[in-house]
Amino acid sequence: TQFTDLGLAEPILKALAAEGYETPTPIQEQAIPVLLEGRDLLGTAQTGTGKTAAFTLPILNMLATSDLRAKPKSCTALILAPTRELALQIAESVKTYGKQVRPRFAVVMGGVKPGGQIRAMQGGVDILIATPGRLLDHMKTGVINLDSVKTVVLDEADQMMDLGFLPGIRRILMSTPQGRQTALLSATMPKQIRGLAHDFLNDPAQLSV
Ligand code: AMP
Repeated sequence: TQFTDLGLAEPILKALAAEGYETPTPIQEQAIPVLLEGRDLLGTAQTGTGKTAAFTLPILNMLATSDLRAKPKSCTALILAPTRELALQIAESVKTYGKQVRPRFAVVMGGVKPGGQIRAMQGGVDILIATPGRLLDHMKTGVINLDSVKTVVLDEADQMMDLGFLPGIRRILMSTPQGRQTALLSATMPKQIRGLAHDFLNDPAQLSV
């Protein structure tokens, strides 16, 4: 299988070619068609498997092939990550794979002054990458509203659980529309993560790499 077989739009394929990516990794091969179809996804995957591109490319594809424009203080795609390091890594991938799509994106995380993040969200963003605690703060102060979210990714869900974010994640998901697409990725599938998937995913495709 080649990236050209997965149904990705030209601007995405160009960015991948520029990166020298030739063939998709197993998780990319399995997850990208599912996500492009709009289905929910429950994936068991470790870091280093190419999971970031697996969920980032379908989001960029959606942005490239539609004229969705986030309204002020809202976002179209939301990616939740357990740590600042991972959030920044995801942002780097969005930048790299989105060279042609040029999405508006913002990173929201603890440990830095909120001013820059608030300014970044003011006009609305196509992709919001966030750690749960700081996102909840911004939701409380009305800086961001999740009413028009089309797709949510929970990356390293087991790590977020270990950090005590599970109740926060539930609150965040409950603030997004019911009809959204949801992808949950986790290195392990403990009972609480299965419970989260049961409560918030709709007939997900399940895969393990
Ligand atoms: P991840 O598991 O998402 O952290 O990705 C691990 C590493 O693999 C990153 O450095 C990516 O740039 C790289 N990578 C992801 N997908 C591919 C691919 N299809 N071909 C070559 N390298 C890739």
